[in-house]
Amino acid sequence: MSLKKTDTEIYKAIQNEIDRQHKNLEMIASENYTSPEVLEAMGSPLTDKYAEGYPGRRYYGGCENVDIVENIAIERAKEIFKCEHVNVQPHSGSQANIASYLALLDIGDKIMGMDLSCGGHLTHGHPLNFSGKYFDIVPYGVDKKSHRIDYEKVREIALKERPDLIVCGASAYPREIDFKKFKEIADECDAYLMADIAHIAGLVAKGLHPDPVPYCDVVTTTTHKTLRGPRGGMIMCKKEYASAIDRSVFPGNQGGPLMHVIAAKAVCFKEVLSEDFKDYAKQVIANCRALAGELKNRGIKLISGGTDNHLVLVDLRPLEITGKKAEAALQAAGIVVNKNSIPYDPAKPLVTSGIRIGTPVLTTRGFKEEGIKTVAGLIARVIKDPSEEIISDVNGKVRELCKKYPHNKGRE
Ligand SMILES: *Cc1c(COP(=O)(O)O)cnc(C)c1O
Repeated sequence: MSLKKTDTEIYKAIQNEIDRQHKNLEMIASENYTSPEVLEAMGSPLTDKYAEGYPGRRYYGGCENVDIVENIAIERAKEIFKCEHVNVQPHSGSQANIASYLALLDIGDKIMGMDLSCGGHLTHGHPLNFSGKYFDIVPYGVDKKSHRIDYEKVREIALKERPDLIVCGASAYPREIDFKKFKEIADECDAYLMADIAHIAGLVAKGLHPDPVPYCDVVTTTTHKTLRGPRGGMIMCKKEYASAIDRSVFPGNQGGPLMHVIAAKAVCFKEVLSEDFKDYAKQVIANCRALAGELKNRGIKLISGGTDNHLVLVDLRPLEITGKKAEAALQAAGIVVNKNSIPYDPAKPLVTSGIRIGTPVLTTRGFKEEGIKTVAGLIARVIKDPSEEIISDVNGKVRELCKKYPHNKGRE
């Protein structure tokens, strides 16, 4: 039996999503397209297995196969990131962050994290998130002019506020993060240091972004962004926190691990260990530079003036279009991005004055600098003049590009 016969509603929605992925240029910076092998592992009967606990120490029988899977995932992650301890069970990046905070801190302790409007993540202290509800949050931002982290300012706030933990890492920061400087600051105020590399993990894995592992007590990540694996999370830490982290994930915050997803994480890690992945990660960055350069050539303003990583943040204010409108116009043209607050944004979070654009997916589809420059030109045309004629003309060009760079890795 197949879904096509037993559940046509869901079957159709899935087919339509595959079709949408084929026919649009996906430039949401936090997304990627996984390999057929990652999908195969995720769609396996490992989803059926209860495996609470850890390899060799489970609360259920019959775990001999999933133990092999989890041990391989752990070994491969250690090989990639050269870290002392790894927990591959967090269901998501947010779960990894909850578990890490609760392993090191008590409720009510003080966390210093990057402000959401400056590029931080919800789990770094937003008032509506568990982090903001259960911890005392002190935010740091970016410099108003350079849009970069001002480490002297961070140090000043840290020495005044004396947080118990400093979290560094971001969801919309186009520049390198200096983890060594954060470590010096954390040491000065006697705080734990946690890096959340959800976005940049694939670049860190290949030495294309400074490495947080030597400097941080704990490093969390997702596995589905630049790392190009299944939707999920992971925690890396120094040996001394290994048992606290493991206990905080299970039984602290989760029940049974998603063994099919852990298998897919292992498959992803093997891909990341290959030379091909280094070429991929390098191309992601080269493509993003080309994107930034071409947008600037066309007079478009970028937050921080450019990029060091896989994303750019466009300041739309000079064009007098909101993030919300730009996102909708680009979507109508077949280019998918997300509206995003820019530092000290005067507009509301559901409107915003920016869009965030990333290159991980198009690089997976085989785009190189030339193709990306063409896309940058299309983006510029739409956000400068989101009229029906322009949108329809650009959409025609997007369709051609999608045919030229097919996304058909065994997914039909
Ligand atoms: C995406 C992201 C997360 C959360 O990941 P989810 O899997 O969506 O929970 C956490 N931190 C940062 C910095 C992120 O960008």
